[in-house]
Order: sequence, then C-alpha cells, then structure tokens
Amino acid sequence: MDDDFSFTIEIPCDEDGFVLMQCPQCGEFFKLRPTDYESDDVLEVSCPACGIASENYLTEDVIELAMVVAKNRVFEA
Ligand SMILES: [Zn+2]
Repeated sequence: MDDDFSFTIEIPCDEDGFVLMQCPQCGEFFKLRPTDYESDDVLEVSCPACGIASENYLTEDVIELAMVVAKNRVFEA
C-alpha cells in the first residue's frame, strides 16, 4: 500500500464522550476521554489495571472499523 495513503476515522464514543480502550498487555477494558488521550500534557497513558503504558489502546472493533473505512477508500479511488 502507498505510504502516502492516509485517512481518518471517527473512534466511536459513548454518550458521555468516553472512548472504550483496551490494554494490549492485559486485555483490560477502560474508558478514556479523547481529549485526555490527545492532550499534550499526557505523554503516555497507563493502563489502570496493570499500570503498563502502551502506545495503542484501540479495541479490535475500532481496528475493524478502520479496515472497513480503508477498504472503502481504496475502492473509491
Ligand atoms: Zn493492562
């Protein structure tokens, strides 16, 4: 795939504005506000269950959604 190919997706959040994250280390689910996650003040987010900081907390649902969006974009192009 072209390295210049990029897209953005809306990560689904609940009615309170929280996004469901999943820790890749222990599999624990927890909620986070997107504004917290993207804030420059927050250098890294640690899992509340195991305390390990990871770069990627996207759940499989979100990754699946991203794949679908990506496929559709490729198809449109
Ligand atoms: Zn964890």
